[in-house]
This record gives sequence, structure tokens and C-alpha cells, in this order.
Amino acid sequence: MAQQGSVAIDPRPSVRSDAMSKTAAKRLELVKPSMIMGLVQMARQLANSGQPVIDLGIGEPDFETPAHVKKAAIEAIQNNVTKYTVVAGQPSLREAISEKFKAENGLSYSAEEISVSGGAKQAIFNAMMASLSPGDEVIIPAPYWSSYVDIVAVCQGVARVVNCPEAQGFRISAEQLGEAVGKKTKWLLLNSPSNPTGSVYQPEHLRDIAQVLAQYPLVHVLSDDIYEHLMFDGNQFTSILNVAPQLRDRTLLINGVSKAFAMTGWRLGYCAGPKFLIDLINAVQSHSTTHASSISQAAATAALTGPKDFIAERQQVFQDRRDIVLAGLAAAEGITATAPGGAFYVYPNCAAVIGKETPDGQTIASDIDFCTWLLQRHNVSTVPGAAFGLSPHFRISTAASEESLKTACARIVEACKELR
Ligand code: PLP
Repeated sequence: MAQQGSVAIDPRPSVRSDAMSKTAAKRLELVKPSMIMGLVQMARQLANSGQPVIDLGIGEPDFETPAHVKKAAIEAIQNNVTKYTVVAGQPSLREAISEKFKAENGLSYSAEEISVSGGAKQAIFNAMMASLSPGDEVIIPAPYWSSYVDIVAVCQGVARVVNCPEAQGFRISAEQLGEAVGKKTKWLLLNSPSNPTGSVYQPEHLRDIAQVLAQYPLVHVLSDDIYEHLMFDGNQFTSILNVAPQLRDRTLLINGVSKAFAMTGWRLGYCAGPKFLIDLINAVQSHSTTHASSISQAAATAALTGPKDFIAERQQVFQDRRDIVLAGLAAAEGITATAPGGAFYVYPNCAAVIGKETPDGQTIASDIDFCTWLLQRHNVSTVPGAAFGLSPHFRISTAASEESLKTACARIVEACKELR
């Protein structure tokens, strides 16, 4: 890879030392270093050196955790809620989650069908660890949240990635699913609204998928609903179980408080599914983290049972920001963007800038080059589509102020003008 300052820098941190390779478990062979973290690091370095970097690479809300949630956590500490809890999470929290599913999703889950963990990510990890034997396949529509493929690899499963380009709304079609399912398929992973595209599976898409799954009773569905509260244009979130309740015995719903309640650092997520699956998940968790932090559990209970008006307000803020980005990018030569239906990302297509040259004679050969150039020469940090398994695109996070988004888009417009 080229030196700092040229276009062809690989934003992934340098791979393994000899000692690391000798020590690393075989199961880590397929796990790639995080490209996102590599770019985040590069953006931080530039910012620390005084460059006016606008960071649109991060995937966390720029709001604060609500005051009543913080208060509940402080009270938990003062009241000595500082001991081990049960593995699956405090009964009061699981009751609150059960109520949430009833009230918000029209779904019925008992406390025994719910497991709380250190983030939605850990819930997914627990589920894969609990269910994958070496060689079991997991169907992952691309673009995907990068951790899915790496979690599957760590758990010695095989990621069966299915390309779902923009022309089909970044969603897996029933035909593609039918072609991808095989004897070894254990899971289909769905994420709506999606990271990185913000695309949404509407009821009709979910019905089509359920129809295919009806022919394959051994395939489970993992539905990652972490962005369910960030739906735009008045649309309602639909769970696959709302349209296909018959899948309940083989569906795991993933959710958490990170995104809706701006609680990323509290590390609190949960899953709901049939009891046999939750028991397996609890068995894995009992030998790793034991349970989520007792303080975070108290905070999440307050979040789920407390006022939620601010969620709709924030949803509107993210929709407005989406519109700002779409308007701002409209003038960017070679960039096009589909309007996302939810979440806080825009996933523009940069196919028309690939092959162009920068003023200093570097060829933009990929979306990695494009994002690296945007960062190094124009101080805008984004994430290349390569990190999400579908190029040539880049992901813009709208978890930034309107002013920052406008300035960043103006810089991207200028950057594109420079390309020949
Ligand atoms: N699922 C998706 C699609 C995400 O984008 C993220 C975080 O970026 C997570 C899960 C992880 O959420 P948590 O913070 O609860 O682990």
C-alpha cells in the first residue's frame, strides 16, 4: 500500500505480527480487521493534527442519554444494585422488554423468552455461538453491517453473502433467497431499517421472504431491529413476525437501547425468541460475560418504561438531516443517492467517479480510494462500501449537526469537481 498522503492508502490497520499469527486461533483466520475503525483512527489523527475534519463515519446518535435514564443508573449505584444479576437479565427489565414487544410490535414474549446482553452485538454473537456448527451457513444480504460476517466467521460458520444492489432497494428478493438456501443453511439475517443503506423491508417484501422460508423449515431468521424507531416519511416499522407469525418458533428478534435511546456506551441489548433458543443463548452468555452490567440494566429499565416522546422528535431530526444530505449531494458530479427509509445513514453510489483522476494524478480505483481521498484532501470522513460488502458506494452517517452535514456535502461537491 502507498504512503500516507497518496490516494491508495489502505485504511485497515496493519494486519498481524508473526507472534500474533502463531498465537491466533484458526477460527480467527477469516476475521478481517475493521476497515471502519481504521478510517476512524485516520480521521482522529488528522483532527488531532489540527485539520478541520468532519466525521461522518460514526454510527452512533449525537444526542445525550435522557436525563431520567442517567438518574436511574445513579440511583441504582446508590441503592447498591451492584451485584450479579441472573444471566438472562433482571426479571423487571425482561418484563419491561416483554411490555415493549406487546405495546410497540403487537408481539407476545414472556420473560423466559428474552435474554439481555452487553449490546445487540453480543446478542447476535451469543446466538451464532449457540447455534452454528463448523460449516453451517448464514445468508447475509449485502450491503450488510460489517460485524455480521465477522461474527459468523468467529463462530466457524460460513457467511453466504447475497448481493442486493441499489436497483432492488438493497433488499434480498424471494428469488435470491430461494437460490441461496441450501442443506447447510442455518440462518437468514435481516436488518431493517438497514445499516448501511437505511433501506426498509415493507410488509410485502417480508411476506415474499416468509413464503420462501415456508419451504425450508430448518432455516432460522435473525431479525436485527435495532433501528426500528428511526422510520421516515410516516412509515411504520414491520417485523417479519407481524406478517408471518408462523415463523415465531425459528425467529430471533434482536434489539437494544443503543440507537433509540442514545445509549451506545451503556452496552445493553436484548433478544427475544423461542425458549429453547434463549436457553442456548443464556448458556453461552453464562460462560462469557455472565450478564449485562447491573447498572446498565437499571438504566435500560428506566428507558423502556419512561417517557418516549423524544424518540419521535429525534426521528424527525434524522429525517430532516437525511433530506439535507440528499439535497447537498444532488450537485455532486458522479454521485447519486437513493433516499433511505430509515436509520441514520445515506449510502450514495460513486460508480461514476471510479477511474477518474485527482489533481495530483492519483487514480480513484475504488470506493476505498474515494473515501481515503475525501478524508485526506477534503477533511470529510465517510466509510467505503467495501466495508459493507457492496461497492462502489460510501456511507454517510447523519449523526452530525445540520451545519456539519451541509459543509461536508459542499466539500464533497468540490471534491467531485476536482476529479477528471
Ligand atoms: N446491529 C446493527 C445493524 C448496528 O448498526 C449496530 C451498531 O452499529 C448494532 C447491531 C450493535 O448495537 P449495540 O450497540 O446494541 O451492540
